[in-house]
Amino acid sequence: MATIFEKIINRQLPANIVYEDNEIIAIKDINPKAPVHLLIITKKVIPSIQEIKEEDFYLLGKMAKVAQKLAKEFKVDKGYRLLTNVGTPSGQTIFHLHFHLLGGRDLLSMG
Ligand code: 5GP
Repeated sequence: MATIFEKIINRQLPANIVYEDNEIIAIKDINPKAPVHLLIITKKVIPSIQEIKEEDFYLLGKMAKVAQKLAKEFKVDKGYRLLTNVGTPSGQTIFHLHFHLLGGRDLLSMG
């Protein structure tokens, strides 16, 4: 079954898209935990960072580059959190590789 993010990538579901290239898409989180809460997602369906195969590790570099660019664009480049969940115990709910970019508030109180 297609993940929610696949449906967004295929334009079957709406999303607020803030970046897109042939391999990466970034959207605003539907339930933001901070004033800036973006999701940087691989178009290729990889369940999590734990399942990345050798040939796909370069995508992490691309995602980091997109994070840099978006952090500047959204004016949080002085301080933000970039995180990815792995598996249900971590709180992962969508099994399609993505990084959360969070900023614009005191992140220390988030734990
Ligand atoms: P996870 O828990 O897998 O690390 O993160 C999934 C994130 O996707 C959550 O922060 C959740 O709010 C967000 N999310 C879930 N469904 C949708 C959706 O349909 N659209 C958008 N933009 N974000 C979603």
